[in-house]
Amino acid sequence: MNEGEKKVVSKMISIYCRSKHNQKNELCIECESLNNYALQRLERCPFGDDKPTCGTCTIHCYKRDMRQRIKEVMRFSGPRMLFAHPIEAIRHFNRERKRKK
Ligand code: SF4
Ligand SMILES: [Zn+2]
Repeated sequence: MNEGEKKVVSKMISIYCRSKHNQKNELCIECESLNNYALQRLERCPFGDDKPTCGTCTIHCYKRDMRQRIKEVMRFSGPRMLFAHPIEAIRHFNRERKRKK
């Protein structure tokens, strides 16, 4: 399983929560459940190690409301990731780009 992607997802959610919900070091209940959900999805991803990033996935296994929420998080935190965690972010976006080609 791709631990790197799990970290990226969790970090994006915590950036989002910190800015939008004013939590300091822990996630609010809703973001916590989104985080658990996303990690569980990754855990069960049918693509295994050869998975695309969820952003470029053709199946997109999230259920509808969770998908909405994670999209919102990505939109908000994606660009901010570059400043907060440049190395992980670049690695992640590189994989995404490669996949799109
Ligand atoms: S969205 Fe796609 S890549 Fe992400 S966990 Fe679900 S099936 Fe796997
Ligand atoms: Zn939150």
